[in-house]
Amino acid sequence: MIIPKEPKLTKEQLNEITEIAEEYGCRVKPIEGHHRTIYALLGEERESIMINRILGLTYVDRFDAIDSPYKLMDIHSELTHHKIVIGGHIIGESPFIIAGQCTIDPKNPNYFIETAHAVKEAGAKALRGGVWKPRTMPYAFQGDDRSMKILVEAREKTGLPIDTEVMDEYQLDIALEAQVDILQIGTRNALNYSLLKKIGERTANSSTTVLLKRTRAMGPVSELIAAAEYIVAGGNPNVMLCPRGTIPQMEGYRNNPDESITPLLKEKTWAPVIVDPSHSVGRAQYVPGAALAAMAYGADGLIIESHVDPAHGIGDDPKQAITPEVLAKLIKDAQTIWDITRKERVVA
Ligand code: PEP
Ligand code: MN
Repeated sequence: MIIPKEPKLTKEQLNEITEIAEEYGCRVKPIEGHHRTIYALLGEERESIMINRILGLTYVDRFDAIDSPYKLMDIHSELTHHKIVIGGHIIGESPFIIAGQCTIDPKNPNYFIETAHAVKEAGAKALRGGVWKPRTMPYAFQGDDRSMKILVEAREKTGLPIDTEVMDEYQLDIALEAQVDILQIGTRNALNYSLLKKIGERTANSSTTVLLKRTRAMGPVSELIAAAEYIVAGGNPNVMLCPRGTIPQMEGYRNNPDESITPLLKEKTWAPVIVDPSHSVGRAQYVPGAALAAMAYGADGLIIESHVDPAHGIGDDPKQAITPEVLAKLIKDAQTIWDITRKERVVA
């Protein structure tokens, strides 16, 4: 839809636009209002070079597309009924809680194994554990390939599916070899399109799920969905979206909590939304509140940092991991909110 700056295009202007549109197989149809005329483009109106050429015309104010830009992620796409199944749980049918340590400490593997058992006991459906960590400073602990063995051992012992972040193809190779169930793409790589595409291709036609975090820099809802489209277009429709807080941060919190984008995502895409309250608020005492807010907003699940002994954890765990006891209460409360809100939605 082309909206001109003046109430109506002149004949010459309309001819110029029509010529451009026809080059791309489109037709221009004027829609006359009381005071203004706007111009619909009939055909493949999403052709980006055509749009840019039209936007380059000084007399054009705006171009608004009617068709969805997401061929596969769109709520009305052929994937609208696609169901993601992890460890026998159908996402969307009950709160899917992923919990575990921010970072696996290769020097203290017992903590992770204990945490794994404890989060299972608390009601978590999947286990998170960072093998590799994106750190602000290159001198900080970056993770350790050997932690993958500990993560896999925890899956064997608990039966919980496992989640870990990969940042490059080297790590992806190791994670795929270990058959990691949920590949987490962190906020720093959320727009690394070549990595997203590669992950989609390498996990095509498998049951591997990708948990895609939102960019830190308050990326628009549409940008997050478009980034996920790269994975799905690469061949893997098992993608879940993860709001995790944005910058600039709210004073006192690590980031600016963004669980409130959940209903906006759900209006546009079929992909499940798993909210990360741990990185959003960044302090253990604020995590339960943010987690329950996410459930009230309609999240399909949560990813939460939890540790049996946070003070002896590494990475984010000393400040933002909750104990398994707090997690157990949180999961019960999350179920209560799920029951209330899902019931209301059916009635409404
Ligand atoms: C994490 O999950 O530990 C992590 C580093 O997340 P994010 O990419 O959201 O910062
Ligand atoms: Mn963390």
